[in-house]
Amino acid sequence: MVSEGNSLLLYNGRVTGLGEAARGATAVLVIDGRIRAVGGDEPVRADAPRGVPAVDLAGKAVVPGFIDSHLHLINFGVYLQRLDLMGVKSLAELVRKVAERHRSMPAGDWLIGRGWDQDLFAEKRYPTRQDLDAVAPDRPAALTRACGHVMAVNSEALRRAGVGAQTPDPAGGQIDRDAAGEPTGILRERAMGLVSRFIPKPSAKELEPALRAAVGRALAAGVTGVHSDMDISNDVIGDLLATDLRTGSGDDHVKIGSVKMFADGSLGASTAALSEPYSDNPGNRGIPVVSPEQMKENVLRAHRAGMQVAVHAIGDLAIAMTLDAYEAALSGAPRPNHRHRVIHCQIMRPEQFARFARLGVVADIQPKFITTDMRWAERRVGPERVRTSYAWRTFLDHGVHCAGGSDCPVEPLDPALGLYSVVTREDLDGQPRGGWLPEQKLTAEEALSLFTLGGAYAAFEENDKGSIEPGKLGDLVVLDRDPTAIPGEALKDLRVEMTVVGGRVAFRRD
Ligand SMILES: [Zn+2]
Repeated sequence: MVSEGNSLLLYNGRVTGLGEAARGATAVLVIDGRIRAVGGDEPVRADAPRGVPAVDLAGKAVVPGFIDSHLHLINFGVYLQRLDLMGVKSLAELVRKVAERHRSMPAGDWLIGRGWDQDLFAEKRYPTRQDLDAVAPDRPAALTRACGHVMAVNSEALRRAGVGAQTPDPAGGQIDRDAAGEPTGILRERAMGLVSRFIPKPSAKELEPALRAAVGRALAAGVTGVHSDMDISNDVIGDLLATDLRTGSGDDHVKIGSVKMFADGSLGASTAALSEPYSDNPGNRGIPVVSPEQMKENVLRAHRAGMQVAVHAIGDLAIAMTLDAYEAALSGAPRPNHRHRVIHCQIMRPEQFARFARLGVVADIQPKFITTDMRWAERRVGPERVRTSYAWRTFLDHGVHCAGGSDCPVEPLDPALGLYSVVTREDLDGQPRGGWLPEQKLTAEEALSLFTLGGAYAAFEENDKGSIEPGKLGDLVVLDRDPTAIPGEALKDLRVEMTVVGGRVAFRRD
């Protein structure tokens, strides 16, 4: 049942609200979309006007609506309707799935998939065009790696894109080649664009159901706010700045956020830009996808226009480039409350944490990456650099504002998994016991704050969202248990019972 109005009384619950008002509270009253009262059942019920729908929580927990501070909502929706390769355990399984999909599709259409990870494959190698040709020879196929920074394509896709042995690597990208110099079918970073620009874009008609599907998943996971990447390219920034849309334009439901830019690739794909070579590949330092000068220019332009900037940077070199660009923009055009962001910030140099704090830069972190990346992160960067990698505790200790996200569809859209990952630092099987780099664990309160107040702060919304306090929007999640009062291992099984957006019940478990 979904309530019609935007007023609601929740009582007989356990409020974990990250604010003074919520301490020991059992009831929350929302009137016309905003929280009116928080406290004990008796006084709060007395405040409720006649006719406000009331829900007996029977001891369940209420927390602020989760905010996912970095994901790709439209991509996720589109992806829900395509071939899902997440968790595939072997190349043989991948090929089998492609074959099935191929047989069920109209001839000639692009076969699009996403989510594979060669590190999970029994064969421990990347797919090749020949693997795909064997089952889908006469249609183009393009399968994006889980991280979104590498694509495996078949020969027909290369043919349509005109990519062959003679095609040079584009700036910021790489075409993997075999011993004869022919493309293997693996395209990295900017090289993906050689093929992806031939893939038909989803039509407006396909986008709406895609978006609805993605929003439905978000609500079912207790997510009431997303900072969604619209996946436009660096080249579009000029177009955006020509409009009068700026960070914060919009209403309580939809708002313009930051300008997103890229500095590098991903660690899983060995394209994250490092200042020293990869420990498992001495010839490789990753791929900065933009020059330091261009980065400075892009950041300055957006900064001067009054936009918040968010840069994807994973390797320490990319992070340094980004912080340099922020520092240069801030010294040229000082702005106290800029809240510029670095998305991912995984491989940090020890001195970079203090630099984040000094510049007032927000760290957009993806706790769930821990459970995936712990399998190979140390192999990529070695025992020394790994100590300051995925170092979320160190960020908090330096007083850096941190926000938690999933990067969905890179990882599942499920804050409970984020809480679990950052509190236990164990994978979903509970390995390694005691956690990977356990000194970097967060408490459950800190973890919850990443996905609530942290996300709100990153979007200049801490006065409206992120905690259960009178005056804030009635964005609430009812959970089967209080995440701050259960063992860390139990966090991954937290169940969302009900999701409330602006006082309206938007999801309820049957
Ligand atoms: Zn992303």
